[in-house]
Amino acid sequence: MMHYVVLTTGSCGNCYVFYNGHDTLIIDAGVTFTKLSTSLEQHEIPLESIRALLLTHLHPDHSKGAGVIQRRLGVPVYISDISRECNESLLVKQKIEKELLRTFSFGEMISIPGFEIIPFATSHDSDGSSGYAFTSCGKGYFLMTDTGIIPDEAWPLAKEADVKFIESNYDEDMLMNGSYPQFLKKRISGRYGHLENKMAVGFARETSKIGDSVSFVHLSANNNAPEIVSEAVSRLIPSGIFCKVCCRGELFEGFVDEER
Ligand SMILES: [Zn+2]
Ligand SMILES: [Zn+2]
Repeated sequence: MMHYVVLTTGSCGNCYVFYNGHDTLIIDAGVTFTKLSTSLEQHEIPLESIRALLLTHLHPDHSKGAGVIQRRLGVPVYISDISRECNESLLVKQKIEKELLRTFSFGEMISIPGFEIIPFATSHDSDGSSGYAFTSCGKGYFLMTDTGIIPDEAWPLAKEADVKFIESNYDEDMLMNGSYPQFLKKRISGRYGHLENKMAVGFARETSKIGDSVSFVHLSANNNAPEIVSEAVSRLIPSGIFCKVCCRGELFEGFVDEER
């Protein structure tokens, strides 16, 4: 059994929790320790089951709670080797301790109790940013946010996953016709920005089989609306693939049965 919780998603903060009944993996720490601990208590996920905290990158909406969570729980924090090399000042700012900091190279397996993880490089304006594919209890999972393009390595990893979390950040028309200054529009829609709805939904369709589930996450508050993503989903994705559009900041949970 896997019990997963999206504690929060979007530019206000990101945190994804995966509990297999023994071990818990946390991806991203854009929340306070208090919010994390009270939410886990509500979901009956023991804090002592947390084995590791993986960060996709060091932008504050993904990492602002990392240092405190690391120290309070004594768990290792994982980032890519490139991210460590290029973001020294952010590591200091988030008070992430070196003794409990682990680094990985892209494509190399990370083993922690209960989880086998393959990190892959995403394309974002934060050096060494990553997405993750992992297996636990015989099921495959995939998480990709904050990427301007879909990296080649993501395709086979997503195809193998039964449960996916994919960024669906902005609607192209809303962004282009919206009030953001030109440089920001360029940044978001550029190669090192965020993923557009049509790309996200198309990617989900191409990589999913009947029975899979896909959660669309990290929606922009200003350049997107859940209804737009839902409309694209119902138009393009077969009904046997379970899809959920996660509103900004909204908490939601799901359960996945073990493979027999
Ligand atoms: Zn973000
Ligand atoms: Zn970011």
